[in-house]
Amino acid sequence: MVDLLPAQSKGWQKIELMALEHFSRAGLQEIRTPIIEQTELFSRGIGENTDVVGKEMYTFEDRGGRSCTLRPEGTASVARAILQHGLLNNGPQRLWYKGPMFRYERPQAGRQRQFHQIGVEFVGLASVLSDAEVISIAWEFLKDVGLNDLTLEINSLGSNEDRNLFKEELKDWLNQRINLLDEDSQKRVNVNPLRILDSKNNSTKELLYKAPSLNDFLSNESKNRFDYLQELLENLNIPYKINKNLVRGLDYYSHTAFEITSDHLGSQATVCGGGRYDGLISELGGPKTPSIGWAIGMERLTILAGEKILHSKSPDVYVIHRGEKAEQLALKITCQLRAANLTIELDYSGSSFSKQFKRADKSRAKWAIVIGEDEASKDQLLMKKLRDNEKNEQSKEYIFSSVDIDQLITKLID
Ligand code: ATP
Ligand code: MG
Repeated sequence: MVDLLPAQSKGWQKIELMALEHFSRAGLQEIRTPIIEQTELFSRGIGENTDVVGKEMYTFEDRGGRSCTLRPEGTASVARAILQHGLLNNGPQRLWYKGPMFRYERPQAGRQRQFHQIGVEFVGLASVLSDAEVISIAWEFLKDVGLNDLTLEINSLGSNEDRNLFKEELKDWLNQRINLLDEDSQKRVNVNPLRILDSKNNSTKELLYKAPSLNDFLSNESKNRFDYLQELLENLNIPYKINKNLVRGLDYYSHTAFEITSDHLGSQATVCGGGRYDGLISELGGPKTPSIGWAIGMERLTILAGEKILHSKSPDVYVIHRGEKAEQLALKITCQLRAANLTIELDYSGSSFSKQFKRADKSRAKWAIVIGEDEASKDQLLMKKLRDNEKNEQSKEYIFSSVDIDQLITKLID
């Protein structure tokens, strides 16, 4: 688990703000659920035989003897909250969330035990239109953050019936070749054969090229659904690749599954993963409720966004001051200008004017306000332009009385 240091938090804030803008424009509402849930929510919702539930959860008994788990993902909690509060009585829910998730994994670049996700859930919507809209929200957001080397991979997992037929066929095929599989996959053959398709083991991957394909088991209805999704994506100019082995790690997916990957993330290539989970809400005791969503990993996203996103806004004004009376005036003017929505950095070095000017320059502020003993005694401020695009401007220095703050602001935003 890692600390997020000030140098990084700027980038995070910017990305979170951009996400919020995208979500607001798409009419989504935020939901915040607790970090701790009853363990049963995840074992039922995600599935006992998944890696997440089987190996990765932080589970403990609380003082009341209940089994609790730090949430490993957001969807099950959102589904629980929707049911518990009867939100579906108000119609389909289009929601977003963000926050820390916990999985006991081997830490490496882009993989942590506490990590952070931003996610979107459309709950109560069955149409292919909703699949395309959900994918487009992720795609446009990631592009806006500045990532343009992304690949969208899609697949159809079909309906439950399609998948059950396929599972039996795949199981037989794999059992005939059990000695050629890696150890992890051997254990999965009978409990969760679909997950083997997702194996990262090279020789298993090689073998799987010849395995039966889920696509051949899709009913006509499922096929048409998948074709229409592709048509909608083409219509939106969102490029995609079909990846027949994309099955996703959690049990609750059906029909559309997708991932957005980048070549720049090494083996942790997936920045966004999502899909349709029509069976989850009923698995948790609710009515049959078709749903689709995705989650983006913030750590991987910030690695990809890199330096580009880190340049935070430079201050409008850097306030330079010397002496006790000047200090009071400097603090007052700083607060007044911030109240006018300007970004102000107040010097704390107490060093010579020339050193303070150097700091002002380094901050990339457009203006400096200078208050020395002399100015302070006359209740005046000297305002000096530090950066200028208009070459023919005569004077770059202005004197204002501290009571004429409105005039000063007019000049600043001029
Ligand atoms: P992976 O195959 O990389 O383990 P996953 O399928 O387990 O990913 P999801 O459950 O789909 O991941 O979560 C969605 C996104 O959350 C991932 O694409 C990734 O960006 C991020 N994520 C998942 N696990 C971690 C982790 N341990 N550390 C950092 N980010 C993670
Ligand atoms: Mg994982």
